[in-house]
Amino acid sequence: MDLEARFAYQSFRPGQKELAQRVYEACVDGETLIAEAMSGFGKTAAVLTGALSAAEETGCRVVYACRTKRQIDRVVEETTRLQARHPFKAASMLSKFDYCLLRRRRAVPQESFGWYCTFNVSNNLCSYFLNVTLTEDFDRLVKEALARTPHHPELIRRSELAHVCPYEVARLAMAQATMAVVPYQYAFDPRAMPALFDRNSLDRRKTLLVVDEAHNLREFYRGLNSATITLDQISGAVREAEAMLMEEAAKSLSALQRTMEQVIAERQGWLLDRDSVLERFRRDQGTAWLQNLAFELSASSGAAWGSVVYGRKLPSLILRVGEFLVRLSTSSRSILVKWDNTFGLVDPDPVSGAADYMSEFRSSVLLSATVNPSSVFARSVGLKPEKVRAYHASGEPLVTVRTVVDTGTSTRYKLRTPEMFSKISDRVAAVIRSTSTGVGVFAPSYAVLAAISEMVSKKVTDRNMVSEARGLSNDQATDVFDAYRSADDSVLFAVQGGRFSEGEDFDGGAMGSIVVVGLALPPPSPMMYAEYASLKRAGEQDSYLMLSRLPALRRAFQAAGRHVRRPGKRGLVFFLDERFGNAAARELMPSWLRKDLVVGDLPPSSIESLSREFWSRHG
Ligand code: SF4
Repeated sequence: MDLEARFAYQSFRPGQKELAQRVYEACVDGETLIAEAMSGFGKTAAVLTGALSAAEETGCRVVYACRTKRQIDRVVEETTRLQARHPFKAASMLSKFDYCLLRRRRAVPQESFGWYCTFNVSNNLCSYFLNVTLTEDFDRLVKEALARTPHHPELIRRSELAHVCPYEVARLAMAQATMAVVPYQYAFDPRAMPALFDRNSLDRRKTLLVVDEAHNLREFYRGLNSATITLDQISGAVREAEAMLMEEAAKSLSALQRTMEQVIAERQGWLLDRDSVLERFRRDQGTAWLQNLAFELSASSGAAWGSVVYGRKLPSLILRVGEFLVRLSTSSRSILVKWDNTFGLVDPDPVSGAADYMSEFRSSVLLSATVNPSSVFARSVGLKPEKVRAYHASGEPLVTVRTVVDTGTSTRYKLRTPEMFSKISDRVAAVIRSTSTGVGVFAPSYAVLAAISEMVSKKVTDRNMVSEARGLSNDQATDVFDAYRSADDSVLFAVQGGRFSEGEDFDGGAMGSIVVVGLALPPPSPMMYAEYASLKRAGEQDSYLMLSRLPALRRAFQAAGRHVRRPGKRGLVFFLDERFGNAAARELMPSWLRKDLVVGDLPPSSIESLSREFWSRHG
């Protein structure tokens, strides 16, 4: 095994070769490895080198699972570099929705897209799909995609020219590839897995699984194993069914709405007795009523036909209610909870099957820049610390970062007063005024983001300011990114844990200072109560650290690392919240954030002079 020969660059950065070697050994020996390396370390290139070397030696394939499309883009970039050095077949696959050429003709909501595609394919209405078996171009596209993995817009462009479905090109390429780069869904969601494992005969025993940004895994499983529905959504589904002339479905949905309203009104507290709710439906409506309704709504072709015949938008709320009812009537692990006008189905132990699942692979490598302490992280994703190995990459990139923790501010709920917001915005304005390059400001929530950005923009009027909004599409996010890059000294306002604080790179001098405002502790919710109760029953001592504190600190540290992408980087990180100043938080800080640390109650004038002094020395 010659790691140098496979590595895509002329030479390794400090620590990269050791990480590649460790990943190689773990993959060959069939271990589960937790590997930590800081932002800007170049871990993707190192891990790919180790995993692909092991794959070649053991006759395995590599599945590289990423949380976001941006992260997939980065891995695809590294993959094509590797392919140029040492040819191998690789493929990347997003969701059908991302690829669909047919949906360009009409607006199709993502929730009802599955119907849309199935309906068009099964009724021979999609010429892009029909062409898959008819054109030679299809095989050529698959071959080209395997030899040099294209970015998704490029695959879509080539497929459009040949008039074939890009998803089918990606799917066939995936079946033949030595390495698959996919979103988490294909690796962990049983509903999406068949596209990667069964239909393509990818044997998990002969697969090396790499999970990028693995600190997100518990949250991903939580989303996968929970569902919510509101009374408003149920009444919206009634209206959709009436509009589609689905009389029986509309009547049943109205009955469902009445019962759910009664349940909300009758019960105190957040926990509901799921069995007695199911029994109530049986008693009032008949034995199989709920199951039949769930099936009809979630699989109904009536609504799909209706939308085509009446030229209406595909109804998304009918499907949403149907999927909730399917889970309510079938998922025995979930408990039923309520708050306000919302029902939730929650798995109190969302990662219960994760360890068994990962053990089906020859080897699993979980990567992150922030998994410290690794034993808590391992337990948070259902793994037994004694059965996994942890590796902390040494050889941090030589970065010059000053970290400033301001203990005079806080976004604790009780302290969120106009005076506190004014204090915070004065400090953010001081950072912006004393930084001649770009600045990133990361808030704990959209509400705080809106308040702070509005106040700061009144105090600083000569800078290009752009802001992340809730629920941005990919194209809208690209617009925000482009707007930020349109000036060298722009200011970006975004949320911690959002799309701009992970997976988005602000390279070079594009962002000189980062301000992390507040600690993004998850708000208390019945979902969290249920998980706390489950961890307590299991004897977990660190449940608060695992479920609340660590995820919030990780979000903050991830945001802080956005501008550190390569060795030699200089910059400042400001944490505006007294909770970052306590000893426990400082201990959990990655070491690169502790090298030059200033802690204190720092008025704007002190912040400005700390910043100016840093830039006069390192600018
Ligand atoms: S087969 Fe492809 S192009 Fe046709 S509807 Fe499905 S995803 Fe869209």
